[in-house]
Amino acid sequence: MTTTRPSLHLLNFGRMRWDLGNMVPGHLDGTWGSIPFPGFLITGSEGRRVLIDSGPDRRHIAEPWFDQPPDAPVRQEMQLELVPEDDPEVQLDACGLSPQDIDVVVVTHTHFDHAGNVALFPNAEPVVHRDVYTESIGRQLPRTDSSAGTPRYRIIDSDFQLTPEVTLLVTPGHCPGHLSVVVTLPGTGTVILSIDAIYSRANVTAGVYSVAQDPDQAKRSGDRLLALARETGGLLIFGHDMEQWRSLRHPPEAYY
Ligand SMILES: [Zn+2]
Repeated sequence: MTTTRPSLHLLNFGRMRWDLGNMVPGHLDGTWGSIPFPGFLITGSEGRRVLIDSGPDRRHIAEPWFDQPPDAPVRQEMQLELVPEDDPEVQLDACGLSPQDIDVVVVTHTHFDHAGNVALFPNAEPVVHRDVYTESIGRQLPRTDSSAGTPRYRIIDSDFQLTPEVTLLVTPGHCPGHLSVVVTLPGTGTVILSIDAIYSRANVTAGVYSVAQDPDQAKRSGDRLLALARETGGLLIFGHDMEQWRSLRHPPEAYY
């Protein structure tokens, strides 16, 4: 049996400018800033390649709001700043891989900046929480039924160890069925990907973890991730924190 050196690559799926008060209401209202759209590639000791989120639909690169009418308010409220290098295919290429090489795509939730390219990976099994699947299949999530007539999606209902290195945590609040991720690496140790359960350091400082459908659940989920980071001494990577994102390793560098 061959073993691969486990690794975590941070992928850049673009960025956008908007009023940061959308993320930390009551604290940053009226302050415009740029936030990253992160993705994560984990190669496990068994050689399986797991992609966490797939970024905004690649069509946003050529035409930022291709899917919105000319007078849509979102065009003023969110300034998408995507460049060709943000395409998932280009990001994977920087890691020496192509979309065909991905074995699993974790759909943490289906907001536009996280799940726009699920269908781009022909050999991947998408993994999604049941609440997200029920809400999104056939809408934000493509139908990829197999010839046997059963969905190719792996649908989970609770925390789930996906590979020896990757555990999915159910962290609802931002939306039902939201997933965060714990990655365990031989050198780096524990890395916690909060995704949108905690947007940024400013959210922790303010005690507002997420602009959420369910604020009480969001608080519990945020507290859970912060406690886990304390217990493990792990690296907690926030969902949309430009200052932190810039300070982290990006391809060709990685975490091992
Ligand atoms: Zn997000």
